[in-house]
Amino acid sequence: MVDAERLMRQLELAGYRCVHDSANPKGEIAIINTCGFIGDAKEESIDIILQFAERKTKGKLRKLYVMGCLSQRYREELPAEIPEVDKWFGKFDYMGIVEECASAQFKGRPAGYSLKAKGEDYERTITTPKHYAYLKIAEGCNRYCSYCAIPLITGKFTSRPMEEILDEVRWLVSEGVKEFNVIAQDLSSYGLDLYGEHRLAQLVDKMAQIEGVEWIRLHYTYPTDFPYDLLPVMAKHKNVCKYMDIALQHCSDNMLKKMHRHITREEQDAVIARIRKEVPGICIRTTLLVGHPGEMEEDFNELCEWVKEMKFERLGAFAYSEEEGTFAAKHYKDDIPQEEKERRVDTLMAIQQSISSDILSQMVGTRQRVVIDREEEEYYVGRTQYDSPEVDCEVLIEKEAMRREAKGERLEAGNYYEITIIKSEDFDLYGVIEKTT
Ligand code: SF4
Repeated sequence: MVDAERLMRQLELAGYRCVHDSANPKGEIAIINTCGFIGDAKEESIDIILQFAERKTKGKLRKLYVMGCLSQRYREELPAEIPEVDKWFGKFDYMGIVEECASAQFKGRPAGYSLKAKGEDYERTITTPKHYAYLKIAEGCNRYCSYCAIPLITGKFTSRPMEEILDEVRWLVSEGVKEFNVIAQDLSSYGLDLYGEHRLAQLVDKMAQIEGVEWIRLHYTYPTDFPYDLLPVMAKHKNVCKYMDIALQHCSDNMLKKMHRHITREEQDAVIARIRKEVPGICIRTTLLVGHPGEMEEDFNELCEWVKEMKFERLGAFAYSEEEGTFAAKHYKDDIPQEEKERRVDTLMAIQQSISSDILSQMVGTRQRVVIDREEEEYYVGRTQYDSPEVDCEVLIEKEAMRREAKGERLEAGNYYEITIIKSEDFDLYGVIEKTT
């Protein structure tokens, strides 16, 4: 999304009118930014490309370009498979698209990390609701988990200079962004390549002091070599969400070893315990992978028991898909049937549903600071600091109840309100307004 937003900005600077919309396309040129790191993502990307290829065949489109991970990964094979695409671009080559579209000078840079920062280098056209944005602080990964193609696609872990990121934050604030969802393939390693030491804590501390930054949310930390100096910074600043997205993938030592996670169950549990201790009330989100080669019934049962014990506030589970070029594809046999993988995902998610339901029910009666994202039929829809856009829970505030109680106020998207939680469901909350903040 961040890459696409940078490209959109550059195209706009080159004089094009850009719309981020695949549902109702009206443009003459379509550019599809693809993901290609697991089976489902590849399938989705190919489906969209084929839809647009059909539009082109019907004469509804002049040019069709494809960029991103899938394009980069299968550049040799794809042109023959889908000849309707005019040109395929790699993940970091959106400069090439601008050049292809026009001879306008490109003002940004492909990976964004090697040139000296200039005012407009980090500018982009925000496609999310304008009060929140994703902030990419590094690219690539050096961890080489057995099953993961990301290091093969994105290359070595590369941090962006801290000053450049802070400039971007200040610019985004000036554009109306209040919530910063900090992302990288591996947030924990931020700074190691560039400064020879962990600098995530320092970056977050500096970001938190920028006026206008309402929420900072951290996505995709890695448990091994966790930067513990981050925790006091999280505890100290009110505008650093008490939220940590840390992908753990599994718990059985057998699987952690096969997955090349460089950590044991005991060490992993100690990381979580320390995070919970140093940042009281933190909401931990994790991601688990099931059906990896060698996952025996006892490994999976151990995982289920562990999930019940750990009670992660937020959890997502995915089925293994074999990715060529990875260690797992080269050395393991993908021997668990797809239906069994899916059964394991469903089993985990059913366990999580009851955990989530319990955790959310404990929020009933509490007051929460909620940002409103949008209006949807009879509700205003918002989130607490414990919820990331798109993936986590939402808080629904009934418009009719507000009218009834003569609060006399409309809630505005992008504004923060004090909300009392009055009801919970498995994955969502309901609230009523107390006062504007
Ligand atoms: S840390 Fe994440 S991005 Fe890096 S190899 Fe492992 S799963 Fe892939």
